[in-house]
Amino acid sequence: MQTIDKFNFAGKKAFVRVDFNVPLDENFNITDDTRIRAALPTLKKILADGGMLIIASHMGRPKKNPDPKYSLKHILAHVSEKLGVDVKFADDCMKADAQVAALKPGEALLLENLRFYAEEEGKPRGLAEDATDEEKAAAKKAVKESQKEFTKKLASYADCYVNDAFGTAHRAHASTALIAKYFDADNKMFGYLMEKEVKAVDKVLNDIKRPFTAIMGGSKVSSKIEIIENLLSKVDNLIIAGGMTYTFTKAMGGKIGISICEDDKLDLALDLMKKAKEKGVNLVLAVDAKAADSFSNDANTQIVPVNEIPDGWEGLDIGPKSMEIFADVIKNSKTILWNGPTGVFEFDNFTDGSRAVGNAIVEATKNGAFSLVGGGDSVACVNKFGIADKVSYVSTGGGALLEAIEGKLLPGIAAIQE
Ligand code: AMP
Repeated sequence: MQTIDKFNFAGKKAFVRVDFNVPLDENFNITDDTRIRAALPTLKKILADGGMLIIASHMGRPKKNPDPKYSLKHILAHVSEKLGVDVKFADDCMKADAQVAALKPGEALLLENLRFYAEEEGKPRGLAEDATDEEKAAAKKAVKESQKEFTKKLASYADCYVNDAFGTAHRAHASTALIAKYFDADNKMFGYLMEKEVKAVDKVLNDIKRPFTAIMGGSKVSSKIEIIENLLSKVDNLIIAGGMTYTFTKAMGGKIGISICEDDKLDLALDLMKKAKEKGVNLVLAVDAKAADSFSNDANTQIVPVNEIPDGWEGLDIGPKSMEIFADVIKNSKTILWNGPTGVFEFDNFTDGSRAVGNAIVEATKNGAFSLVGGGDSVACVNKFGIADKVSYVSTGGGALLEAIEGKLLPGIAAIQE
């Protein structure tokens, strides 16, 4: 397999798929540029070699072309600053021929959001709500057809293909997987970030030192159900935190006030608990909560047993007893995976639980554990607490990371390895 380190990009045009899907505030300022910084080693190596960069990414979920809210123009200045060159911008990723041709060694061009085109994902757009199954199938076929032309066009810009977009590696999209077949094995490769991600996942999958503890936080059980089920056959301890806590608590008959809860997932929660028991997994749930009388940072708060949240109050973080219990389990672990905060960490008054988890992971890491932190919000957490360099690895992938942990071969990885 070709590797980026060995490849000399001098005089070559490189199509580099990155994941610049960074969070923006209402004024389109980047609120966390981790993903941009993560791609810099790859981009800089190519420029330093005297290569020409064609940088491609998606951002958000645009539904039309153009969809200005999701324009990559919002991040152009920041990318230029970080890269140390004046990055040019192609307003339309399908009409960049002239700009690509004009590139000189050491120059870079950022393509507009690939997902302005439905072909990037290969999913039909604009279907009427009452479309028949036949119409849906025809629309799907049509977009898959035009996806070939789209992919070919992107490939035509470059001499070589570098995939450094781990965040979308679980999607078989035009620029993340399909494009690879237009380049021979010597001219396609992972970027540095992707290489590191693949190595980190391998450690958690194939080199597990026990006990292995996963901490799953975040808001909803429904978005994490498959991952939780899969983790049950791998981990020794599964800590469930965040908003999911209350679905479990209610399922067991607890009082959760107005805490976030998925009422249609109560049976599922009980089923997961049963499965954990059958598999001998230690499922750890919060015992207390920091409850608030409104969903705001300035709400009045009280610490209550997790199953006795008063009417009109909601659990926005775990309480001190839970922090202690979680920390104990984590500190005794040798492999750790953390995805999702224990509470609404965006509010400063509800960060303690996530911070306690983060600190326990740091301590375990100091004592020789391998710790992998992944998922957009977990990354924001470790950055907020300033501990990103004190854990073994911070992944840039959310869904991609978790699918990889499930043992699935990700299309973006397979396309390079084939
Ligand atoms: P996810 O994207 O599923 O990982 O969820 C992350 C989000 O879950 C964050 O924005 C948190 O604010 C939110 N969250 C965590 N705990 C709670 C909670 N107890 N109530 C409401 N939202 C929560």
